[in-house]
Amino acid sequence: MTSGGNMVKSNLGMTYIRPCVTEAGKISAETHLGSARDGSESSSDFLDSSKLCWLLNLSQIFSGVKCSQNLGIAKIEFNGKTVVVSKGGRINVRTAENKEDALETTWLVSKAIWPAMICARCGKAILECISGWCGKCRPKDCPLLVSGPPKPTQMLDTRRDIKTVNEILQELDASGSSAFKQAKQDLGDILQILGSAVTMLSSGNSSQNEVTVRQKLEEATCLAQRLIVEGHKQIDMSAGLILLGISTNLEMLSQIVGSLAKVVLSHPDHLLLERTWNVVISGYKALWRFDPAEPRRLEKSYAAVSRILSRTRGKGGNIDFLRSLKAMAKVCLCLSRIASMSLAV
Ligand SMILES: [Zn+2]
Repeated sequence: MTSGGNMVKSNLGMTYIRPCVTEAGKISAETHLGSARDGSESSSDFLDSSKLCWLLNLSQIFSGVKCSQNLGIAKIEFNGKTVVVSKGGRINVRTAENKEDALETTWLVSKAIWPAMICARCGKAILECISGWCGKCRPKDCPLLVSGPPKPTQMLDTRRDIKTVNEILQELDASGSSAFKQAKQDLGDILQILGSAVTMLSSGNSSQNEVTVRQKLEEATCLAQRLIVEGHKQIDMSAGLILLGISTNLEMLSQIVGSLAKVVLSHPDHLLLERTWNVVISGYKALWRFDPAEPRRLEKSYAAVSRILSRTRGKGGNIDFLRSLKAMAKVCLCLSRIASMSLAV
């Protein structure tokens, strides 16, 4: 347990514990997960408000979730306790049984909102970093990815071992975790459904099973969040975050395929569509294979497709069609970035 002296010095961790005013025998505790970078809370949020609200609902273990995206403040109930979370990174637990109970609850909430925490390096939520959308964080040292969710008792000691995404996914695959297995299955199914939709488009038909894709995405993200919230080991939480990052990309992909349906029928270049789709598939497969050379190779195929797309555009190709294909190819780039990231284990 961290000593009180350390906490005061850094202004991080649990800053106070006191008896509850409203209920005798119970305690209230406040924890600061992050300190404002320049001392003022308003200029540097610790949490992305929209993701905060999304994650608290997605967790499915909190009741009475009330969350204001505009104010960046959430109030939730958990096992008889009321917890208030603010976008500055403050967690207040009320009516806890004792200090341990307050610490455990704070830790649970910290895990749940980990993906919404803002990366000090790129200013985006780390869910975006692990989705490969940030571009600024180097693969091995995105600060919050390599430290894991902040623990109220270990705020000053966040150094951990790290492993690559490939290693983490393989380890979870071998562990037999049913939540992981089901989420992986869902993601694979989504890709297959989108793949058949692309094939249909190529042959001049339009059909995407949007409802099934949406349901599978929902299930996959719930399971991923469950791994984070209910995970006892850091590797489980990291695997959950990776799955959330992959889901984010597949959601993007499903939107792109949906928008393609509107333009592809009038456009004859189905070969280009198939070629771009194959790049996406190779990006997805690379996630599940351990091969350090793969990200480099994928970047090359992304660059090759991008060049063809630009050239076709120069020759007067359909702009909406090419824009969608470019966005599709970008998903491959993001997936390959995910494959080369490292997270705490
Ligand atoms: Zn980042």
